[in-house]
Amino acid sequence: MSYNANFAGIVLRRLKRRYGNQMRTSLDHTNPWQLLVATILSAQTQDARVNVVTPGLFRRFNGVDKFARSRPADLYPYIKSIGLYKGKARSIVGAARAIVEEHGGLVPKSIAELDRLPGVGRKTANVVLSNGFGINDGIAIDTHCTVVANRLGLTRSRHPEVIERDLMRVFDHNEWSNVSLLFIALGRDVCTKRAKHCEGCVLNDVCPSSTVRRDRARTR
Ligand code: SF4
Repeated sequence: MSYNANFAGIVLRRLKRRYGNQMRTSLDHTNPWQLLVATILSAQTQDARVNVVTPGLFRRFNGVDKFARSRPADLYPYIKSIGLYKGKARSIVGAARAIVEEHGGLVPKSIAELDRLPGVGRKTANVVLSNGFGINDGIAIDTHCTVVANRLGLTRSRHPEVIERDLMRVFDHNEWSNVSLLFIALGRDVCTKRAKHCEGCVLNDVCPSSTVRRDRARTR
């Protein structure tokens, strides 16, 4: 086992102890289609804001067929508090039409097929596969994951696909969904994009970017 895989094991164990063993997305949903819609809406928007609008949206558009038969503008009144809502409405209706026309109304279960839907990139595909179907086909990389993975020295890239490959190499396949959600939890909690609060971090004695470690080294 490589040094990085050993390090990754320590990181995972500690983050699980701190944030939980089986992480779930904080986007409310009751089926894979709702999760896909919520994930599209969550781009550059906090999950909590998305959770405010989706109950009304899903009450009005009950199922993928209803979305497919709608125009993007029909969605505006329900999602206009969300950033970039016009483009997101276009993506949601486009994805619904493609799912109805090409997949028999069922959300596809592979990254390749999901990736081809309008407005659905690899990150969204990974979120839907892992949280909607329990399939670990990749690791969803968002801004939090990018920051945390770089500070932990598990990647040197800012490109999601390179980061995903680097993390897939060192973390166990069964843990890929957990890795993404645990890094997001750490990123929201103490390792934020704006500042790192290493004194409150469970990794502060092993992380190469830890300020606590440097302080200790200085005082030793
Ligand atoms: S020790 Fe600091 S830099 Fe490292 S993961 Fe924790 S908060 Fe981020």
